[in-house]
Amino acid sequence: MAGILFIISAPSGSGKSTLVGQLRTLVEGLDFSISYTTRAPRGSEEDGREYHFTSREEFERMIAAGDFLEWAEVFGNYYGTAVSALEHARVAGKDLLLDIDVQGAVQVMQKMPNAVSIFVMPPSPEVLEMRLRHRSEAEHVTSEAVIERRLSQAHNELKQIWDYKYALVNDVLEQAVSEMRAVVLFERGARDGVQAMAEGCRTDRPSEKLKAALGTFGR
Ligand code: ADP
Ligand code: 5GP
Repeated sequence: MAGILFIISAPSGSGKSTLVGQLRTLVEGLDFSISYTTRAPRGSEEDGREYHFTSREEFERMIAAGDFLEWAEVFGNYYGTAVSALEHARVAGKDLLLDIDVQGAVQVMQKMPNAVSIFVMPPSPEVLEMRLRHRSEAEHVTSEAVIERRLSQAHNELKQIWDYKYALVNDVLEQAVSEMRAVVLFERGARDGVQAMAEGCRTDRPSEKLKAALGTFGR
């Protein structure tokens, strides 16, 4: 794939989907990979929008057919990124965002070492628990077991944070969105050579070309 692949991971409930949603309204040229999952739709989720909701049988058929770039079992359900998402982004000339768990992220980092990985941290376990509770109350599916499981999984996932190139804390949403936007723009600048070109124009390290031009003015 010619564009940049951004891998975004976070403990469930950290606010990753919220962040990614806002980022996409601010930054052009970002495609979002809609994952396949065997979990049931939550709240107002729609098939083909947040996820492709599928059966275990169909998911296992896709694994066998080699349809996934990565897949993992998370909280008892399968989740996977279709290889075709890369091709769609390439054809559209866009960068691609993957919102995936740490197990999937490690697989993608190994297969695609140029991918840019970003970990989203909740500010504290207490805030994470509050967000998980608010979300499940809003969706009328409060389950103590689910919340406990997600909190304990958060501690496990944090162990992987240093494998990621970037990490940001989702405390104040606007600040976190700005940081994620900055990472995307910075990485695009690096890819396009924009940063190197700007560095080459700095006056504290004048280029030979600048020195020669100044020389013609006797400076
Ligand atoms: P994830 O995709 O990481 O599982 P969500 O995006 O669904 O998490 O966010 C979990 C809950 O936290 C949602 O109710 C969301 O509105 C809320 N939330 C997200 N970011 C913030 C933030 N910075 N401050 C307060 N609440 C937030
Ligand atoms: P949720 O059920 O809360 O939407 O997602 C649970 C977890 O599954 C989150 O950490 C989310 O990032 C992860 N996830 C979503 N899609 C994928 C995917 O395609 N692959 C992997 N490995 N994880 C995914």
